[in-house]
Amino acid sequence: MKYFSTNNKELRYSFKEAVIKGLAPDKGLFFPVEIPKLSDQFFNELPNQNLAEISYEVAKYFVGEDIEEKELKNICKEVFNFPIPLVKVEEGMYSLELFHGPTCAFKDVGARFMSRCLSAFAKESNKDVTILVATSGDTGSAVANGFLGVEGVNVIILYPKGKVSHIQEQQLTTMGQNITALEVEGTFDDCQALVKEAFADDELNAKYKLTSANSINIARLLPQSFYYFYAWAQLQEKNKEVIVSVPSGNYGNLTGGLLAKQMGLPIHNFVAATNRNKIVPDYLDSGKYEPKPSVQTISNAMDVGAPSNFSRMMEIYKEKYSDVIKDLKGAWYSDEEIKVIMKEVFDREAYILDPHGAVGYLGLNKYLSKEKQVGIFLETAHPAKFKDIVEDVIEKEVEIPNYLQECLKKGKKCVVIGKAFQEFKTFLLQ
Ligand SMILES: *Cc1c(COP(=O)(O)O)cnc(C)c1O
Repeated sequence: MKYFSTNNKELRYSFKEAVIKGLAPDKGLFFPVEIPKLSDQFFNELPNQNLAEISYEVAKYFVGEDIEEKELKNICKEVFNFPIPLVKVEEGMYSLELFHGPTCAFKDVGARFMSRCLSAFAKESNKDVTILVATSGDTGSAVANGFLGVEGVNVIILYPKGKVSHIQEQQLTTMGQNITALEVEGTFDDCQALVKEAFADDELNAKYKLTSANSINIARLLPQSFYYFYAWAQLQEKNKEVIVSVPSGNYGNLTGGLLAKQMGLPIHNFVAATNRNKIVPDYLDSGKYEPKPSVQTISNAMDVGAPSNFSRMMEIYKEKYSDVIKDLKGAWYSDEEIKVIMKEVFDREAYILDPHGAVGYLGLNKYLSKEKQVGIFLETAHPAKFKDIVEDVIEKEVEIPNYLQECLKKGKKCVVIGKAFQEFKTFLLQ
């Protein structure tokens, strides 16, 4: 498979180049030149296959010869070493629980796949790879965890001091091994600026093989299509129309679903569900795409005012608005509405939604007609990750999964630096 940049459809890049570069030289996003149509045989076999097997069957088209069969099979096995169950919440409504990975959020899937691909490519060269990641909280730990203990790779995470939650900070600073956490006296934007400047610095590039692991990497996007097939494989009521609601921020998760549909997965339509950062629902209403500064909400992993995967969504539909709105419905909710539904679903069904999954539930409920349809919403984070809010709303204690408990007990290890580039550079050159 070859890839082009959303800013220039003439040039071609291999999967390997696209993964290593992350962003195209013209600042566009990489996108596959064609989306494969999967065979009837693949769909017939689906219910008998496990997640790793399904993932390999889909991944092979996108990876091509850049990673050999045996290694790619291994990667899929390693990435999906945790369950992604489809859980019935009530009649006709299912939750696809994407939060059983090591950092309890769906980003584990993309981060793990990307890290395994990058380390496969690092093995081919004799120089260690240094990954720089700026994070506002969640992504950093998912990415770093994907690389934990991987040979030939060092990870440096930069996070803004005092601006991540206690659990998040514990996750970022207790991994050890090949992961180093830098607590930056500044904002997330300062962290991002430091990483950007490091990539442009000759001296650092001479000494290290620097790679980014940002959210727009194609190797993070692609595996987010795999679990849609697995969800469908687990679904009992395949005779009904299937609709899927995706709580969205940068729209990578939803774009994965749209890709799965293009590959032939019989999803009738999707709901782009979000919070007050309603750029995409507004676009679906009006046909106009107008990015705005983000506003803060309780579903903060979706507080995005300029969704980075929007250009990929447009690519899938060749910018044809009339086609987009056939497949995609929009929905957005206030913090108050999110809290009300969390309480209601807990009281009625004893199911605990996190503030992001709650948005997915609401979006599904808005469009689902239960006589002829069955609905799936994606649960993107473990409720314990948003313990304070969830407990406040449902008035009951939330159990913390083992992984989080372990990391809450460990001692924090990090290096504090200022936001001046020179300080960061001196640290790296030590
Ligand atoms: C990142 C994230 C989202 C949003 O996913 P996108 O792919 O950016 O749309 C939703 N929920 C949680 C918990 C997340 O961490």
